[in-house]
Amino acid sequence: MTHPIHLRAALSATCVFAAVLFSASLHATAVPAQAATTLPGPAFPTWSSPAEVKAACDSGLASTRTRVRQLETRAADAAWLKAYDALSAHIEDVAYPVYLLSNVHPDKAVREATEACELRWADFTSTLGQNEKLYRAAKRVKPGDAIDRELLKTVLEGFEDAGVSLPAGPRARAKAISDRITELSQAFDRNIRDAKVQLAFTEAELQGVPDSVWKTAKRDASGRVLLGLESPSVVPVMQGAVDAGTRERMWRAKTNEGGERNLKLLAEIGQLRKEYAGLFGAASYADFTLRRRMAESTANATRFLGEVQQAVAARERREIDELRAAKAAHTGQPLAATKIDRWDVGFYTERVKRERYSVDQQAFRPYFPPQESLALVMRVVEKMMGVKYTRVEGVKLWHPEAQAWAVSDATTGKPLAALYVDLYPREGKYNHAAVWSFRGGSTLTKRLPQAALVVNFDRQGLTLDEFETLLHEFGHAVHSNLSATRYASQAGTSTLRDFVEAPSQMLETWVFDRRVLGLMAEVCPSCKTVPDELLRQAEVAKRYGEGVQYARQQLFASFDLGLHGADAPEPMALWARMEGATPLGHVPGTMFPAGFSHVAGGYAAGYYGYLWSEVLAADLRTAFDKDKLDPKVGRRYRDIVLGNGGQRPPQQLVRDFLGRESSTKAFFDQLAQ
Ligand SMILES: [Zn+2]
Repeated sequence: MTHPIHLRAALSATCVFAAVLFSASLHATAVPAQAATTLPGPAFPTWSSPAEVKAACDSGLASTRTRVRQLETRAADAAWLKAYDALSAHIEDVAYPVYLLSNVHPDKAVREATEACELRWADFTSTLGQNEKLYRAAKRVKPGDAIDRELLKTVLEGFEDAGVSLPAGPRARAKAISDRITELSQAFDRNIRDAKVQLAFTEAELQGVPDSVWKTAKRDASGRVLLGLESPSVVPVMQGAVDAGTRERMWRAKTNEGGERNLKLLAEIGQLRKEYAGLFGAASYADFTLRRRMAESTANATRFLGEVQQAVAARERREIDELRAAKAAHTGQPLAATKIDRWDVGFYTERVKRERYSVDQQAFRPYFPPQESLALVMRVVEKMMGVKYTRVEGVKLWHPEAQAWAVSDATTGKPLAALYVDLYPREGKYNHAAVWSFRGGSTLTKRLPQAALVVNFDRQGLTLDEFETLLHEFGHAVHSNLSATRYASQAGTSTLRDFVEAPSQMLETWVFDRRVLGLMAEVCPSCKTVPDELLRQAEVAKRYGEGVQYARQQLFASFDLGLHGADAPEPMALWARMEGATPLGHVPGTMFPAGFSHVAGGYAAGYYGYLWSEVLAADLRTAFDKDKLDPKVGRRYRDIVLGNGGQRPPQQLVRDFLGRESSTKAFFDQLAQ
């Protein structure tokens, strides 16, 4: 929940999809490359010019259209679902790398070409979603078993939600709205990614921010340090800068990311979604969406968010009082005259943690060199789940620093998946952390999954918080890597959005396990292991500040549901009112919604899913209470929860794995601690 991240490439209504710092100079490379390992699946596209992207886009769309025509004339027999899934798999192969490259390709012209291609795919998929011939065929298909039934249900719902059964006028409008929203949310992300905002600070203004963050940064004509809005700059400034003016400038710039332009885009998106839902007789876009989710209804999600708010409200107030006391002591002001501003929260939270628990996030960097941290997380998964990760050299990807890894079964040696990893920040790259599961596996066709893990780590090493982010993202990666579903359409992360975060959230607490971190000795003998005492203190310190964090997540989720409510309110007015009702209030002149990509993109009316799936993550975690590396439990987890992807309902996977009905107890116990 500490990661406001993970966009899944928003593809279409009928298809399903993917989803905050080089250290070779510091340490010997942790995992020796093994010769003769090949990468499962097709080679990643090596487009390096807009013309190549366009040519690939043309041929991908043409070959897909041919396949659609073939499927249209096919009998709706027992193998129809297999043929439908083959079409989906073909679309993944020709279109999904485009969605990754628009976020990671180093050449702006290529990124722009991929965005143009995305719009053509959006047009294609909204048309496909309204294909009556395919819809009628799907309705005639007799499912052979529960897995077929689950796929058929998703396929039919996809067609229906795309508007296939609407009268001609509203159906055309549904397609137009769908295409327009794709265009608007693309512009929303581009306004953030390409803004290149830089703030200038004197060295004195950066007192308290680690040298590693700014020593090598570019400078302006007056010699001031220039910092951008990427996590490796923002987080250390917000946590470390002693000068409140420095923090305020950084906080305001980050909170205004996207700007007025994005507020307008978001307002238009909200109106269009409301209109879209109305075409289907739904009172709101939230109602329209949530009926397909674990939550089942807006009322259920709203009730749950109310319970979370009740569980954390007292903690949030207590923590803010403690931050005020810390600020008063630090500034020498009387307590009664001391107020916590939004840009004080990170700084004084870290200060209290250092003073009370002797925990300094920066002190963890020497223990977590980026490449070795990746090797450590891989070793954790290897121990738990009986697999092996092998680096494959010489694979041409989108950037020379992007890495290729082959995943295989440790016992049989059987190839399982390919995983690409892109560790470091650069201009124009997606600036959070996410996994694109761009190719779903299928046991039926022996098709192997491929995914890309994209993060932005400091080359000097990770803080403990960042190592936790890596564990989280790796949870998405294994969900893709270890999927073993019959159909590609149901692979790995192609599950319900209010469940998809659970496997990642489950792994987050592995960060505090001594034995887990002790595995660093296996992957990097020259690395030092985090001292036990420091780790224990970090775990206690982690609890401090959670009241504020959960309350913030709850606010984000409630805002998202409100924005997609029956009245589709103006985003900034709604945000100012909702944030204004919180203990820290709203800061006039700031516009957080302008940077809230989740709600502009695929998480529409779905942000509550981060909290909802934490309930499931906390429950799943109970199976590992005795031993986080238990290979027996890990294997069952791999086979039941990860392996089944979206081919069985999440509730059933959790029940089968735990041997009981799922419960909210573990989550609310943890909140109450
Ligand atoms: Zn995630």
